Amino acid sequence: MSKTKIIPCSGIGKVHGSIAREAAFEIIRRENEKCETMCLAHIVTGDVDIKEKIENEKCITIDGCPALCAAKNVELAGGIVEQSIRVIDEMKKHRGAKPGTATYLTEDGWKMVDNIASNICENLRASSLEVD
Ligand code: SF4
Repeated sequence: MSKTKIIPCSGIGKVHGSIAREAAFEIIRRENEKCETMCLAHIVTGDVDIKEKIENEKCITIDGCPALCAAKNVELAGGIVEQSIRVIDEMKKHRGAKPGTATYLTEDGWKMVDNIASNICENLRASSLEVD
């Protein structure tokens, strides 16, 4: 069975993108057998090799903001977006929290990374139970 693709947006310059990226790394660390990540910028180029790798494959996208760059481009490339997460929604749950900056996450920021990663890992486990 092929691994689920965990694809964060390429947000740079704001903490949203950093949280998305760190959450993707955390998911890969926790569920290495079930998932892998890919470079969104490479997908956006329309490269044939990467398109073949995600076409009709299960993908989970993590976007920083409502622009949904990862979810939209994965869909355009033919990937099946099973779950689309927005970091901004996690931030709304913790009004007043200070997650950090584009280059540095605070304890609040790492907590958000953990929440997003835990949510996605739970779904990965639930969907593999359905398959079993
Ligand atoms: S989803 Fe938002 S934060 Fe992420 S790359 Fe797009 S514009 Fe930037």
